[in-house]
Amino acid sequence: MASAPKPTLDLLIAAPRGFCAGVDRAIRIVELAIEKYGAPVYVRHEIVHNKFVVDNLKAKGAIFVEELDQVPDGVPVVFSAHGVPKAVPAKAAERGLSYLDATCPLVSKVHRQAERLVASGRHIVFIGHAGHPEVIGTFGQVPEGSMTLVETVADVAGFVAPNPENLSFLTQTTLSVDDTAEVVAALQARFPAIQAPRGEDICYATSNRQAAVKAIAGACDAMLVLGAPNSSNSLRLVEVAERQGIPSKLIQRAADLDWDFLDGVGTLGITAGASAPEELVRELVDRLAERFEVREREVETTEETVSFKLPRGLEAAA
Ligand code: SF4
Repeated sequence: MASAPKPTLDLLIAAPRGFCAGVDRAIRIVELAIEKYGAPVYVRHEIVHNKFVVDNLKAKGAIFVEELDQVPDGVPVVFSAHGVPKAVPAKAAERGLSYLDATCPLVSKVHRQAERLVASGRHIVFIGHAGHPEVIGTFGQVPEGSMTLVETVADVAGFVAPNPENLSFLTQTTLSVDDTAEVVAALQARFPAIQAPRGEDICYATSNRQAAVKAIAGACDAMLVLGAPNSSNSLRLVEVAERQGIPSKLIQRAADLDWDFLDGVGTLGITAGASAPEELVRELVDRLAERFEVREREVETTEETVSFKLPRGLEAAA
């Protein structure tokens, strides 16, 4: 007996999605360090927030730890793409460890701005998420007390400025573009003299992925975002889709798919956070194709051509 035909599911796949230039570079740094120095190579913190990526690198010889104290003497260590407080490379140098810094150049740019502003005597209001490694790393670039974290408009209302005429603000690179605009507007309303960063701190990859989700959301009944629960930019993609009025869910892999979520869905949007590899998108589409006749369409809102140089010493090995 012929089996019943599968129901049709239209897929709108956002582009850009997935890996950004900073993530690509960070993963390459770990791979090249293993080639150059041999396994094991230690990595302080998940190199990027994605279990699949971390597991692949573990299989190649990387060992992930949270603190430098867990790195034995005499082995190289890589610092993650999120950046580290200044004290970390200083401590590594003190111990004579060779280290490679995989901090995304766009995060390093914010670090340098923070240093310059504090050196010129300004107090920084930093818009970001408490506890995120990028925030910890950026706060670790300047002396304690020279920067204040705000997460929300309510935080802005409660902020007591040391000198309202001498404030600047900076932001985490992976925030929601819309939420950040609201917090910035609140800051500017309360402190008209506050100085904005010279360029946008929210990075191109974060903004592009959010814009791509907005572009397809209106035509979708639901959205799946591939990414990790501790990935800031992935969580923001879920929020962006929800704000467009469609149910949205973060999943790490196709195996996490809850089929009930697709009840009544004729068009499903798919995207992936900046630390989620394209393989995971393909895996999800294949899983969907087990139950549906999938019709795939990619909607590209912008083409990304950004790439970053490798650190000196690894270029030759590339
Ligand atoms: Fe760099 Fe942005 Fe990618 Fe983070 S999301 S690694 S800041 S390019």
